[in-house]
Amino acid sequence: MKYTAQTTRYETMEYRRAGESGLRLPALSLGLWHNFGREADERAASSMIETAFDRGITHFDLANNYGPPPGSAEERFGAILKDRLAPYRDELVISTKAGYLMWDGPYGEWGSRKHLVASLDQSLKRLGLEYVDIFYHHRPDPNTPLEETAAALSHLVRQGKALYVGISNYKATDAKRAIELLTEAGTPCILNQVRYSLLDRSIEADGLLDAMNNRVGTVCFSPLAQGLLSSTYLGGSIPQESRATEDRFLKRKTITEEHVQLLNELDEVAQERGQSLSQMAISWLLRDERITSVLIGARSVSQLNENIDALKTNAPFTEEERAAIDGIVGRWR
Ligand code: NDP
Repeated sequence: MKYTAQTTRYETMEYRRAGESGLRLPALSLGLWHNFGREADERAASSMIETAFDRGITHFDLANNYGPPPGSAEERFGAILKDRLAPYRDELVISTKAGYLMWDGPYGEWGSRKHLVASLDQSLKRLGLEYVDIFYHHRPDPNTPLEETAAALSHLVRQGKALYVGISNYKATDAKRAIELLTEAGTPCILNQVRYSLLDRSIEADGLLDAMNNRVGTVCFSPLAQGLLSSTYLGGSIPQESRATEDRFLKRKTITEEHVQLLNELDEVAQERGQSLSQMAISWLLRDERITSVLIGARSVSQLNENIDALKTNAPFTEEERAAIDGIVGRWR
């Protein structure tokens, strides 16, 4: 059946400006790293994308290597876009990235001009698009001059294959240089995509948020620490359908008795706020106005809806709540 988007889709979502750019992103965006590749359930993938858009999520985040197999999340998203969302292309912000291993030989990864230009061309074919809205360099490359990487990103904007560019996984010093280079080139970096959650504060220690100086927006990935900050592991077991079962990106050995105890303590704080643990984890990130968008991943429409409802149940954190959260997280080893 033909898909028609909900007419109410812009009524409840909050939109935040990406740094000093003119682009506004939804406070929550949908990431397609897991659960959207060729091996995932096609109808569930399609339903999640439609539900997200129906609830005001205009931004969908991909990368060349998302799958499995690598490339297949872009292929599937491209097919869903063509079949369901094509009339809404101008309401969508679609991002992709290059930098991690994608094909054999010396040009299949990292940050050379050769890799970035070829990879974006491949992504556009898989997505069935003429341009992406945001193109990220996915990780810093110690062996390519940053000048070359920045020039390649800039070139792709001038070619019209990307409207905006961003960086991801850079440390503060390199991020600042990349931002300067891209500004000088007249194609500013508008977003820095970073791993940030209640449990993973490494970007605070690196000063990465401060380094953006309100000029560049911050997009957070793995906001639930890959599902740890949800109800999934509160009972102490690892459900068959969970990321820890795969034991790949989230290791089974992380689900220890001590960690389960701490997650339950966090859940108590969340319950007192009238939120689920995942909702509190999302609200905790959005408390900082420098965060442009939180990239949520989901396995099902119900997980997605629970996460979007974080906006409905959100309230400012009290001093006591902050202190309680920091005290619990401080005991995480
Ligand atoms: P999360 O930390 O939000 O983890 C998502 C996973 O958590 C889901 O797949 C699901 O796992 C579980 N989950 C989500 N919501 C709920 C819920 N309400 N209840 C129970 N479980 C829930 O984010 P991701 O690690 O998936 O990252 C999000 C996005 O960030 C990616 O899709 C990608 O776009 C981007 N990203 C970028 C990176 C980069 O290097 N730039 C790196 C990593 C991600 P399950 O049910 O399977 O346990």
